[in-house]
Amino acid sequence: MDSPSKHVDLKCPHCAAPLLPFEMPDGGGWSKPVQWACFNDECSYYREGWDWMWEHYRAKASYRYRVADPATGQAAPLAVWSPQAIRSRIVAAPSPEQDRDDENPANGP
Ligand SMILES: [Zn+2]
Repeated sequence: MDSPSKHVDLKCPHCAAPLLPFEMPDGGGWSKPVQWACFNDECSYYREGWDWMWEHYRAKASYRYRVADPATGQAAPLAVWSPQAIRSRIVAAPSPEQDRDDENPANGP
């Protein structure tokens, strides 16, 4: 079953960016509440997704590379409707080296 202590080192096969863990908005019917996705806005998979969705569905949406279950590596596209979609659900990795660059202004002093 799950082994939380196991180090997960997942990379996007499209842009080689490390995948980031995020919490599913409502579980989505997935067995794993935390999944992994590529949040690199320069990712070819994500960038081409906008054109693909528009051509096929006339939808202004795209998708990011997502691994639903790191244990099996099962991948499934994560639909997003904006560059910021799902970002707020990224689980901050407890890494002291993480250099967060908050673009959003703080809520006052
Ligand atoms: Zn990527």
